[in-house]
Amino acid sequence: MSDKEVLYEGKAKILYKGTRPNTIIQYFKDDATAFNNVKKGTIAGKGIINNKITELVMIRLSQLGIPTHFIERMSDREQLCHEVEIIPLEVIARNTVAGSMAKTFGIEEGLRLRRPIIEFSLKDDDLGDPLIPENHILALEICEQDELIEMMDMTSQINNFLRGMFAGIGLELIDFKLEFGRLTDGESGHFLVLADEFSPDNCRLWDYETGEKMDKDRFRRDLGGEVEAYQEVARRLGISLEVEDEE
Ligand code: UDP
Repeated sequence: MSDKEVLYEGKAKILYKGTRPNTIIQYFKDDATAFNNVKKGTIAGKGIINNKITELVMIRLSQLGIPTHFIERMSDREQLCHEVEIIPLEVIARNTVAGSMAKTFGIEEGLRLRRPIIEFSLKDDDLGDPLIPENHILALEICEQDELIEMMDMTSQINNFLRGMFAGIGLELIDFKLEFGRLTDGESGHFLVLADEFSPDNCRLWDYETGEKMDKDRFRRDLGGEVEAYQEVARRLGISLEVEDEE
């Protein structure tokens, strides 16, 4: 990887300049962080699993008509994507109360919501990714109103689809985080696409039968068995984890 130009190194991924114009390569690391970088560690093989789960999810969502930045998986840890201008928002969907929502409102985790919630956080580590209401987003010109509506519509469709997909393999999709970006298109200016990743690093999955957590909460909460949990999610999705071409 050393010959490629690093554009950005994040907590779980490195972004390299792509092999074609207007593309980037997402390289998935095994590094895991929690509580805004306070807790650090590694989950062996996580990068390979998250690369492959993201590939599967992005392909299925594009078949559903959701535009994404994903082009193709290049290797065990790398995928080629369209370069986009990331909108600095974390779009969070919740079906069941957990994590920060449980804490904020003093509700026990596990309460199934009457209807899903879509909420936004400002993507800013220094500020601790604060929850941001829609009127603040528009007043601060973080994105346009039509973009906000489109992100909510897409997130709702993605939630409906992925809830069913995970239910089919015995996993309850509790909540998840998405990021969107603007993809420049010569003719029509730009349009919104789903970007970043979808993996157990940024969603919560609970086993329907045992209630076991099958996501990054195993790491956040020192529950142990994180490698096995990530592997099990991949296995149930029919993903092969045989090493192909580790660079
Ligand atoms: N999430 C994420 N990145 C963040 C914050 C949240 O991927 O910076 C995901 C998290 O994994 C969970 C969902 O978004 O699936 C909702 O997270 P929550 O607001 O409950 O925060 P947390 O408890 O993770 O701090």
